[in-house]
Amino acid sequence: NRRVILKRYVTGFPSEDDMEVVTAEAPPLAVPTGSSAVVVKNLYISCDPYMRHRMTRHEVPNYVPDYVPGEVLTNYGVMKVISSGHADFKTGDFVWGLTGWEEYTLIDHPETLSKINHPELPLSYYTGVMALPGLTSYAGFFEVCKPKKGDYVFVSAASGAVGQIVGQLAKITGCYVVGSAGSDEKVNLLKTKFGFDDAFNYKKEPDLDAVLKRYFPEGIDIYFKNVGGVTLDAVLPNMRLCGRIAACGMISQYNLEQPEGVRNLFYLVTRRLRMEGFLVFDYYGMYRRFEEEMARYLKEGKIVYVEDIVEGLDAAPAALIGLFTGRNVGKQLVAVSQE
Ligand code: NDP
Repeated sequence: NRRVILKRYVTGFPSEDDMEVVTAEAPPLAVPTGSSAVVVKNLYISCDPYMRHRMTRHEVPNYVPDYVPGEVLTNYGVMKVISSGHADFKTGDFVWGLTGWEEYTLIDHPETLSKINHPELPLSYYTGVMALPGLTSYAGFFEVCKPKKGDYVFVSAASGAVGQIVGQLAKITGCYVVGSAGSDEKVNLLKTKFGFDDAFNYKKEPDLDAVLKRYFPEGIDIYFKNVGGVTLDAVLPNMRLCGRIAACGMISQYNLEQPEGVRNLFYLVTRRLRMEGFLVFDYYGMYRRFEEEMARYLKEGKIVYVEDIVEGLDAAPAALIGLFTGRNVGKQLVAVSQE
């Protein structure tokens, strides 16, 4: 059973060497009699920025459990059931949910798994647009940002798993949307594939305030914040009265020992802004509604989706680290095994 383990707790920027691909004993390929567990074959696993938090040891418990050195990494994935002791799942079912970064996983609590309700879509979509990143975009945009037709929307890390969907939901809602990304290739994708009204490469624009004034001469109503620090500082003075900021993530800060300060918070007061942090876990309750709506958009071609798939567990550590250098173009995932 090939698996990816955490070698040591991480401080600062993570490296591939903080993880190791090892061979361990496989779980029994048939669940023991009387057990309600399932054994799954992992097909696709998702690489997500929040995994970085789990690689650090926290004195005070974090919002997700820390990984343990020597143990397999866990995250969401798409799996095939190969043996089941649970009435809701049978051999051959495709499911998505929390699993291990390994070939086969024994899942003691299969009630945490979800069925794949739209097998006509690519299975890998259930690591992204049809799973938590998609729900993050949907709940964050509609529930937290409360958009109206004609709103001016700015999205950072816009070509990634979450950002590409937020931008397209904004267009469906009738908003004007501009995204920032870290390469010309990604900027091109935003404009030509995802239908953003405009986009810019923030690495080529050292004066972020000036660039925001250029793209939003009338100001920003909604900022979907995937990046923290200096980006937020530049956005705040460019927000319109009663603007909304969905604090979804702060990827620029995750590897810093000392997070950057934000100087412009007083704009929250003077512009009557609402900045709301949220976790996708808060919105599980709307998953089924989201799943049906997103499946329809994808099938009608109203939402397009770009994935960055690497092959095999050996490529997984580099793929995860690549989220923090911007190596991924679209949703990063790993294809572990064939169906
Ligand atoms: P992405 O697919 O967008 O991948 C991460 C991207 O972030 C990189 O490709 C890179 O794009 C950008 N990035 C990396 N480092 C920096 C940096 N120092 N400064 C600016 N940009 C950087 O990831 P996701 O879509 O999965 O996640 C996007 C954000 O949403 C993250 O902050 C994540 O933590 C958050 N999130 C929050 C959830 C919640 O429940 N609140 C749930 C899911 C995600 P580029 O080349 O453009 O710089």
